[in-house]
Parts: sequence; C-alpha cells; structure tokens
Amino acid sequence: MMTFSRLSNYFDRLDQTASRNEITRILADLFQKTSDHEIDLVCYLSLGRLVPLYEPLEFQLAEKMVVRVIASAFHEEVRTVQKTYKRIGDLGAVAEKFKVKNSKFKVQKLTVTEVYRRLRNIAEESGEGSQQRKVDGLARLLKDLDSLSGKYVVRIVLGRLRLGFSDATILDALSFMRLKSKELRPQIEKAYLVRTDIGAIAKLFKSQGLRGLRGITASLGVPIMPALCQRLKSADEMINKMGKVVVEPKYDGQRVQIHYRKLKTPRRWAGRQNSKLKGDEWQVRAFTRNLEEVSLMFPELSSIGKQIQARDVILDSEAVGFDSTTGKILPFQEIITRKRKHAVSAAAKKVPLRFFVFDILYHNGRSLLSVPLHEREKLLEQSIRGETVLVKAKRIVTDIPQVLRDYHRQELEAGLEGVVVKRLSDPYIPGRRGWSWVKFKEAEESAAGLSDTLDCVVMGYYKGRGKRTAFGLGGFLVGVRKGEQYVSISKIGTGLTDVQWREMKMRIKHQESREKPKAYAQVHKTLVPDVWIEPSLVTEIAADNITRSPVHSAGLALRFPRLVRFRDDKLPSQATTIREVKRISSLQ
Ligand code: ATP
Repeated sequence: MMTFSRLSNYFDRLDQTASRNEITRILADLFQKTSDHEIDLVCYLSLGRLVPLYEPLEFQLAEKMVVRVIASAFHEEVRTVQKTYKRIGDLGAVAEKFKVKNSKFKVQKLTVTEVYRRLRNIAEESGEGSQQRKVDGLARLLKDLDSLSGKYVVRIVLGRLRLGFSDATILDALSFMRLKSKELRPQIEKAYLVRTDIGAIAKLFKSQGLRGLRGITASLGVPIMPALCQRLKSADEMINKMGKVVVEPKYDGQRVQIHYRKLKTPRRWAGRQNSKLKGDEWQVRAFTRNLEEVSLMFPELSSIGKQIQARDVILDSEAVGFDSTTGKILPFQEIITRKRKHAVSAAAKKVPLRFFVFDILYHNGRSLLSVPLHEREKLLEQSIRGETVLVKAKRIVTDIPQVLRDYHRQELEAGLEGVVVKRLSDPYIPGRRGWSWVKFKEAEESAAGLSDTLDCVVMGYYKGRGKRTAFGLGGFLVGVRKGEQYVSISKIGTGLTDVQWREMKMRIKHQESREKPKAYAQVHKTLVPDVWIEPSLVTEIAADNITRSPVHSAGLALRFPRLVRFRDDKLPSQATTIREVKRISSLQ
C-alpha cells in the first residue's frame, strides 16, 4: 500500500514539469510502484477526481467553505486565511502554509486508500447539515495530513488539481510502465474507448496485461466513446473510398448515448443511485459526447420504455428541440437552457426534445460493436416502436455519387447541417478513428468559408477598450490541440453579441490563472492575453480561410474568425487537433 504522502510527492514532481515525456515517465514510475488494488484510485486522484468522468460525483464545496475548513483545521481566524489566500491565490498552498506553521498537529501515516475513502465520504455527504459535515470531515483530514498532502487534497476538493494531463497521457504511461515505450498505447486505448473508465482499465492492465483488456466489451451503464466523423471533400471521393453507404441527415442538436434496461434484472446497475431516471419498470442513463451523465437533464427519457421493444439497449442519438405545433426542428441553442438544473422541467415543457436514434450498440445483453452497420440497423428497426420521444433517423442506402449529392442538397435546403455518410459493412468504431463515418456539411461548390468549423479552447482574454470594458473583456485568444498541449491559432474580437460577451465572462471567471497554464505551448509576446484561462471552455469558431502564421504557435491562423457558439458538450481534450485543421485547410 502506498502512503498518500508518497503520492503527493509524485503530484509535486508532476506539477513542476511541463514536458510531456517527463510527465509520462513520472506517471509510469508511479504506476509501477502502485499496487493493483490502488491503481484505479491513483488514476482518478491524479486527474483531480474520485470517479470516472461519467460518474457525477462532485465535492460541492465552494472556496468560501474551504477557507473555513483551513481556519478550523489550524485554529486560525477566517480573516487571516482569507488574507493569505488573496496574497497567494491558491488555497492548496494556503493549507500547506498553515500546516507548516502549526506543526504541533501530529501527522498520521495514511494510505492512498484511506485518504480516498475519507474524501469519498466527504463528497457523498448529502441532505440537511451536509455542508457542515463536509467542512468538519475535510478539516479533520487536513489535520491528519502532512503539509504537501494537504495542499494537493485541497486542490482536488476544489477541482483545481490540474497536473496538466488527461486520460490520454495515462494510457501512454501504462504502456511506458510495461515496455518503456508508447508501443502498447493503441491497444490499451482501444479498450478504453469501449469502457471509458480509466481506473478500471489501469487496474485490468496492471494485473493481467493486454490479455486482461482483450475481454472488454460494451457494458450497460458505462458510456462508450461515441464514434465521430472524418471529413472528405466530395460525394465522388466518399463513394470511392467507402463503397456502399448509409446516408443520414446531420441533425444539429446534442449527441446523447442512451442506456436503457427493463427492471427485474438482478444485476447491479453501475453508478450512483440518485443520478438516473427511473420509471416503474425501467431505468435509463444518458451521456453526452464528453461522457458527462445528463439523465436528469432529459426527463423526456423517462417514458422511453413504452417505445423500446427489448430487455436492454444502448442507443446512439442526437437530441433535438422540436416545435410540436409546427413540426419543425428548433435551433441547437434552445436546448442549451437545459444546462441549468432548475430550468429543466420548465424547458422540457417549452421545448420538448426528440431523440433521433441512428445506431444501436448493445441489445439484450449482447455488445453490437463488432456487428456490421446493416445488421445493427435491422436490430434498431425492431427495437423501437412509434415516434414519440425516440425517432429513428431517416436514411437512404446508395453507392451512386449523384444520389448522395442530391440527398445532401435536399437536406441542406430543408435547413439541416448536412449529412453523415457511413460505410454499410463497418462495425461501430468508438472515437475518431478510421474512415467509417464521414460528414458532408457545406455544399461542394460553395466557395465562401471553410468546409467546417473549428472547436477551439479559450486560452485567455484581453480586457478591451470602449464599450467592451463593460463586459470585462474585449477579445480572446483561442487554440487548438497538439497532442496534449494547446497551440494558439487566433485572436477573436468580433461576432459576439452583448449577451455572448457577458456569458463568456461568466463562464470563465473561475478558470482564471495567474500564470500561463502548463498545457499551453509557447505564446508569442504580441499575443499574450491580459488574463490566462485554464483549458476549460470550448468555442466553435467559423472562419473564411486558414493561412500560415509566423506568430501563432499552431503555425496557422484563421482569417475572419467568429464565434458560432459555446460547445458545452465538448471537453478541451476533444477540441479540434492541429492535424484536423491542416486537413480542413487542405479541403479549401
Ligand atoms: P460538428 O461540430 O460538425 O457538429 P462534431 O465535432 O461535434 O461535429 P463530428 O464528428 O464532426 O463531431 O460530427 C458528428 C456529430 O454529428 C455527432 O457527434 C452527432 O452529434 C452529430 N450527428 C447528427 N446527426 C447524426 C447522424 N445521423 N449520425 C451521426 N452523428 C450525427
């Protein structure tokens, strides 16, 4: 068993380096020294969490409460703690400082498992008086820990660990642990994309090696990384490359993966009890494309048992707002209001959602990931009855470019975003790999603008002058992904409505950083923003063109960039990559 103090030393080493290779090596060494029984916990903790991404367990302790925790743990005045916090700007460091100052409190040798258990109890406190119990529990824990451990525990509780890597680096490090190279990464990743629980993957791999990962298949209650699209220029190219294809409208809403099962099955349903929708006879869990659990955001799903003709299924769908009087699909923005929890039931009444189902990944206890699309379609056909909440996506099958082109044009004219083209004989391939699915957005002959938008991370903002000072910002710097780092590609100063400027400020205010976040590559001195923002907010950016740039670290820049919308459904790690930008650029 590893002590938490030793783990904190690793965190400290990770915190102090920005080199990808170094981070991978330190992690590999950490995993080497961790036992099979703790490696899952070490993975979650090193990502600043207690559970896999898709489990909605949060600490729910605001900064103000943590100030109280530190004061109470070390018998200090709240005011004193607050003042120190103002000066250093990091509550983790504040906790560390006060622990050093109050060395009279005896440090206990706690294991990772023990600290994890206590953190978990704190996070799971709920109901009346829970805030106070959280404060007390955390204060006791800080008392028992050494100063460095206290620093990292506080950062974890506040969701500010930010060691500068995500699941992807953990996959590299697992490979590195075995072979001192990244050679096994593709195989480990393949398993991870099917079971997106990084802790479970690490545990299996550590205890049984690749053999252990081979048995991994889709499992109810655990989201599968959704399949994504590649880009191709023309209908001819698509048919050439893909042969016989299914063509479906590209519905413009939010990706939702729906897990459904009839009750009375004795197996335990993974996950926390209070996060799921329950009808009398069935259970539903829903996940976004960034693996966030959103079951409670979509009360419509509580009635789908009436439509589903199977014991259990996993469905892949796009949630779209629907005007029930006109029968028209509503713009994407309309469903975003669902984000705020209290607004859910009002929104569900005002803008009811339909879920356009385009795939089935699991059926009556059997994973369908390796089953060809044409067979999955048959099962999908049999599994859904009627069109109340779930609606089967429209589709045609063809291998004639002109038919594809006509269908595409027809969908664009009907106001859709384009079409998605899928190879008829392919299995379901989680993540963005291969050429199984391709999106076809703008018309082939359209000359203005890029063939696709870019999803960029907001790296920082400029304070701005004139009218904009009222919003607190007048422009921002965005970047795209290069490995696990972000490189700048554009400054954006136009295209936002007043409402969007305000919204932007609100969304990033808790993500400000005094220094350039570790995940950002070099930013040219003429581009350095007034305030840095931790990678957190993804924005969809349209542009007319992509050009070479001597200043942006992407080596490329956007011409006439403008904000299309905020992409709350994407994690920074799902932002557009530099490779994709080059591809979009080559399609110009
Ligand atoms: P975009 O930003 O263009 O919406 P994206 O970056 O979110 O795309 P892509 O891989 O480019 O993701 O496009 C796939 C997305 O299109 C899916 O995640 C899904 O939300 C949406 N979509 C709409 N209709 C379909 C469909 N019939 N089949 C598959 N995906 C669809």
